Amino acid sequence: MSSSETLQELGARLDREDRLAERRQLFDLPAGLHYFDGNSLGPLTRAARARLQQTVDQEWGRDLIRSWTKNGWLAAGRRIGARLAPLLGAAPDEILVADSTSINWAKLLHVALDLRPQRTKILCQIDHFPSNLYLTREIADARTRRLHLIELDRLIDELDDQVALVCFGQVDFRSGELFDLAALTRRAHEAGALVLVDLSHSVGALPLELEAAGVDLAVGCGYKFLNGGPGAPAFLYVRRGHLAAARNHLPGWLGHSDPFDFSSTYLPAAGIERFTCGTPPILSFVALEAALDAFADLDLAALRAKSLALGDHFLRWLDTEPAIETITPRQHERRGSQITIRHPQAAAWRDLLDRENVLADFRPPDLLRFGLAPLYLSFADVNAAGAALRWIANGAR
Ligand SMILES: *Cc1c(COP(=O)(O)O)cnc(C)c1O
Repeated sequence: MSSSETLQELGARLDREDRLAERRQLFDLPAGLHYFDGNSLGPLTRAARARLQQTVDQEWGRDLIRSWTKNGWLAAGRRIGARLAPLLGAAPDEILVADSTSINWAKLLHVALDLRPQRTKILCQIDHFPSNLYLTREIADARTRRLHLIELDRLIDELDDQVALVCFGQVDFRSGELFDLAALTRRAHEAGALVLVDLSHSVGALPLELEAAGVDLAVGCGYKFLNGGPGAPAFLYVRRGHLAAARNHLPGWLGHSDPFDFSSTYLPAAGIERFTCGTPPILSFVALEAALDAFADLDLAALRAKSLALGDHFLRWLDTEPAIETITPRQHERRGSQITIRHPQAAAWRDLLDRENVLADFRPPDLLRFGLAPLYLSFADVNAAGAALRWIANGAR
């Protein structure tokens, strides 16, 4: 930024230089809205609307039950999972789209404990997402393991030869802090423990390399940065070497090796589709599948670079206002794709921002989160949010 360039001008220049700018056209965002809640509910894509319409009219309306095979409904979990492979840095046959993130977390916790039957402890990030904490507590009790809630930066001190599993979110959903997945995995493996990671706040926002990092098990959400729609199905990842021994503790008929045999005895499918339980909600599945078109032929390094540039620009605005405290780490390697600020008036600020057509979200007691989704946010959106926050923090409105 030259000394005479204002933040508004800088934002306009960054928009002119933005190589991802045209992807915003893939989204059906209301005119004038500055949407910073894509880390909570991604917006509607034009592709998802068209695909839903077609699925309703033709596949459900006309083809009816033939659609399970004719229109690929049965294969949807595997097919959409395969489409996530480049985003996850994993092989297509290691990923399944199914159920919610919470349910998949429960399934994979069981897998991990099966794989380390002699070990008595689970280490879980202390302020992890509530579902994951509740489920981990419940499953630890049911399977007589001890659950230790830890700060991830103290992992090295907590690891010993009794730890079966280390589990956490790659990005902290409150602060937006990004953890070093490869380093945490390496440490856990040195102690003989497995890693289960929740990618809900990283998938679709930054490049992932699950295979290269050696991650054992992962889950993630379909309705945040992947824009799959409200209640979109989630995904799960099982590293290939673990798959043969990975048992689904929620077995269902569609995960059977021959579902249409309707056998009374469960025989799991050979591949990752054994983690299917019941019938998939097809309308939600096709919406997610179509939403993934927005990631086609995408350079994930460019996606990450834009996410960080949006954050840097937002931080420039925040730095002009001393009343605003940012709790998200500033270093790029420790920052996910959101900026969180703390202020006692955060709830009221959220409502004032809403009146300016800037949508952000409030997390009690005093946090305001701004999701930075690089596929559709512009630097002009950041200018609008920054300027509105400045007025609000100054009590000017
Ligand atoms: C949003 C989110 C979820 C969502 O769980 P669902 O069961 O799919 O609603 C899970 N984990 C984390 C870390 C999240 O941020």
